[in-house]
Amino acid sequence: MLMKIKGIAASDGIAINKVFRLEAVILNITDAKVTNVEQELKKLNNAIAVSVTELKVIRDKTAIKLDEEHAMIFDAHIQIAEDPEIARQVEDMINSSMVNSAHAFKTVSEMFAQMFESMDNDYMKERAADVRDVARRIIAHLLGVALSDPTMINEEVIVVADDLTPSDTAQLDREFVKGFITNIGGRTSHSAIMARSLEIPAIVGTKNILDSVKNGDLVILDGLAGEVIINPSEEEVAKYKAKNAEFLEKVAVWSKFVNEKSVTLDGKHVELAANIGSPDDVESVIKNGGEGVGLYRTEFLYMNNDDFPTEDEQYIAYKMVLESLKNKKVVIRTLDIGGDKHLDYLPMDEELNPFLGHRALRLCLERIDLFKTQLRALLRAGVHGDLHIMFPMVATLNEVRKAKVVLNECKEELKTEGIKYSDTVKVGIMVEIPAVAILADQFAKEVDFFSIGTNDLIQYSFAADRMNQKVSYLYQPYNPSLLRLIKMVIDASHKEGIWTGMCGEMAGDQIAAPILLGLGLDEFSMSATSILQTRYSFSKLTYKEMKEMAETCLTLGTHEEVQAFVENKIKGE
Ligand code: PEP
Ligand code: MG
Repeated sequence: MLMKIKGIAASDGIAINKVFRLEAVILNITDAKVTNVEQELKKLNNAIAVSVTELKVIRDKTAIKLDEEHAMIFDAHIQIAEDPEIARQVEDMINSSMVNSAHAFKTVSEMFAQMFESMDNDYMKERAADVRDVARRIIAHLLGVALSDPTMINEEVIVVADDLTPSDTAQLDREFVKGFITNIGGRTSHSAIMARSLEIPAIVGTKNILDSVKNGDLVILDGLAGEVIINPSEEEVAKYKAKNAEFLEKVAVWSKFVNEKSVTLDGKHVELAANIGSPDDVESVIKNGGEGVGLYRTEFLYMNNDDFPTEDEQYIAYKMVLESLKNKKVVIRTLDIGGDKHLDYLPMDEELNPFLGHRALRLCLERIDLFKTQLRALLRAGVHGDLHIMFPMVATLNEVRKAKVVLNECKEELKTEGIKYSDTVKVGIMVEIPAVAILADQFAKEVDFFSIGTNDLIQYSFAADRMNQKVSYLYQPYNPSLLRLIKMVIDASHKEGIWTGMCGEMAGDQIAAPILLGLGLDEFSMSATSILQTRYSFSKLTYKEMKEMAETCLTLGTHEEVQAFVENKIKGE
């Protein structure tokens, strides 16, 4: 039966593929006895062998997709799966108490995991998670249950999940994963942001997609309208193929602007930069004609690691970005962990409101050791390009002052150690907490630039969790109250002779962008895939028109009124 489900359009494009459900599988292990020990031992050997084969495939894929260092994690997993001592103890248990192999494996592997956990050495402690991970795979085979493992996908699919963490999203292989649909999330949840940088269509916040599809169902994912069509008719498929072709035609028109300057119809230059999550994303920045990087979210460097990246590892990543962008401006943001981003190796307290919690700069100012490692790496990389360091989640002037003291300490340390670093790196802050926007005139005296983070600024201004689809109607980038707040920030920065950019998703929104330019925003940083469309849109309007448009928007009352007004204006051009 044909069925349509509505969600939040999170990444443009249309995909028509089979469903792959990515979900946490519950393993029901009982302590049932077996009668045929011989057969149970055979089953055990078979489950271990299949798991080892799978792990080898994952290992090789990781080596190609990431690097040898990451692949080595799976060498360790293979070793655990093949460990003769674990196997011997499981066999002994099956032999002596005739218990089923899944139960025996769970008992023995948990004993090993707890032994690792009780060790004094941090490295050994972390091996407990590896043992549990491998055991889960083997036990799933013993129970005949399929684990849904994104790394094992080897045909073109649309991934359907309750939610995807940013690290789940990072693991998706673009060759096979043609799009994803989730139950929860909003346009600014990090999985949505990553979908845009992976350039795959996505819909989030459908609430019930998992209840409506099974593995192998054909679905149409319309990332432009935020609609999923389940088991479509041939007619429906043809209709969406035509819609996709139309979209691709538009993309082709925008792509002609790749080597053009970003200028308005009356010749005002605008800076269009990109948001990235890793050095690999630079390729897409260049491909899409980005004029620099307005936000490098460094937390992904931490999230794709099984321990804190060292100073040298970070230095290499930052240097790569700076060198590949040949003296274009690069804004690198210090660690913004917390909210919907976690590190497996950094235990954090459970928080009732993680987006209002101990995250980003708040955490770094407590963990000066981590903060200094990153700042030293940044200062060292600064000699390779035009580096701007940016602090996230600033709420007070004292936080900025403290962060700058730590930065200066790092400079002193590097100087004493005779290590080359840049003394001319610019320092700025994200304006994403209303308290900072309101006091922007004071902050402007102490930093070199502002970048407005509307993903958070909107959630804090409207008191609406960016991950909660029930309040997603309060994600109101065109609301005049937000526009006035943004105007205050831009005006305050210009008064002190510094620039204001925007790296929240609003910067790449085709209705918001002309208003923002009219308000005087200096730099727009967005998903690389939105750059050419924005350059095209700006080329159709004059700066004068955009200023007038912005002035009117500030006098309106609602998000909807602004939207209707701007849509009319743009269409009229
Ligand atoms: C923002 O809050 O607008 C932003 C760019 O940062 P993040 O989405 O990583 O919180
Ligand atoms: Mg933010």
